[in-house]
Formats: sequence, structure tokens, C-alpha cells
Amino acid sequence: MYDFLRSEVIKALEDQKEIFGDELFIPGLFQTKIVAEKITTKKVKVEPDLFPEKMETWETSQNLEDLNRLICNCNKCALHKGRNKFVFGIGNPKADVLLIGEGPGAEEDKQGEPFVGRAGQLLNDILKAIKFTRQEVYIANVVKCRPPGNRTPLPDEMDSCMSYLLKQIELIKPKLILCLGLVAAGALLKKKDSLGKMRGKIYEFNNTKVMVTYHPAALLRNPAFKRDCWEDVKAFRKLYDGIV
Ligand code: URA
Repeated sequence: MYDFLRSEVIKALEDQKEIFGDELFIPGLFQTKIVAEKITTKKVKVEPDLFPEKMETWETSQNLEDLNRLICNCNKCALHKGRNKFVFGIGNPKADVLLIGEGPGAEEDKQGEPFVGRAGQLLNDILKAIKFTRQEVYIANVVKCRPPGNRTPLPDEMDSCMSYLLKQIELIKPKLILCLGLVAAGALLKKKDSLGKMRGKIYEFNNTKVMVTYHPAALLRNPAFKRDCWEDVKAFRKLYDGIV
């Protein structure tokens, strides 16, 4: 009975291969292709990548330095036009903790480093309060170039830049991510919830735990939020202590 089923499956897959070639473009069939490889290793030659021609050079970067070098002249969105410096990110390339902000401000654009202005000073204090140093974590933004007048990045600007952040996450492999503000949280977690709804929860992003708190600039504008932020970062530290 098993042999019969097996030969039927193999025959069906061979028919499929004849029709579609190696590029099975119906997502549901992807699984099937892997099964085919397992059962008929000799007959079905599986390509290492289904769509290799779509790969850009930077996607193959093996470390952050290479990635930065390959993307720092990016002109995928209009933000590059007003850029002084491309703000890639800073910190420990093997950090357990990744902090994600929104995008560079004036000082960051001048210095090429995230969170070096007033919000950055406050971020340093927050990190210190929960016993992290700026050097041991990694800090990056959703967009790498300053939006004019520090406005919120537009959806297409975030879309253009998001794959860079995802590659940074892939290379750093942090155990925990803290999203600073709604823009970072919304972009990473693909959620439209309010910040109030997202705070105090633990999300998973590709096996990495994610928490959300206020953006330091929001705390500068509304010092009353500091108390809640303190609760958030204490919970974040506790989560870290339980994992790392
Ligand atoms: N605000 C951000 O979101 N990122 C920075 O780097 C600076 C300010």
C-alpha cells in the first residue's frame, strides 16, 4: 500500500516538474518540492534558490561592515536626497539586545550615528538605569536617512529601508528587541495597534522576543510618560535576565 502511494506521489511530482520546471511558483507547492527532493534525490534536481536573479549583492553580506559598505550609498527612496550621512547603526555586532528607533534626526544625520542627540542622551540614561551600556547593545533605526524636518518616515520610505533592518537582525541575531515608539513597533511587528496596546506585551519576531516602549523623544515632550517607560524597561530587563 505504502509503495503504491509512494509511486503515485512520485509520478504526480514528475508530472508537475514537467509542467512547471524547477520553478514551482504556486506557494502551496513549495512543500511538495521538498518532499520530492527527499524521495527522489536522484531524479529531481532542486535549485539552491528558487529566484536567485532577484538577489541583490548586499543581501549576501556576511557581516555588518560589509552590509553597511554595500548599502550606504542607497538611493532607493527620496530620503537620500537630503542626506548628509547614512545612519547604519552602532554597537556590538553580536549583541543580545537590539534597540530600534524611527530614523535619524539632525544630529544623527551630521554624525552618522543613531541616537546621539537629546533623545540619545535620554536613551543612554534609560540603558544605564537597567544596567546596559550603549556598547554592549546594538542600536538601529527603521530608516537610515533623516526625514526632512524630522517628520515621520512615509510608508514607502519605510518599505524601502525595512529589508536593511531585517538583514541587520539576521546578522546580529539578537535575543531581544526593544522597539522605541510606535513607528518602530508598527514597522517590525506589522501592527496598527496603538502604543498603549503594544506596551507590556511580549511579541515574537522570528524567534526573537520583542517588547515595545515609548520613543525617548516622546518622553522629552511628555515627561509624564517616563513612569510607564520605566515599568516597560524594567520588564524588558527581567525578560533579558530570564533568557540570557
Ligand atoms: N530618533 C530616532 O528614532 N532615531 C535616532 O537615531 C535619533 C532620534
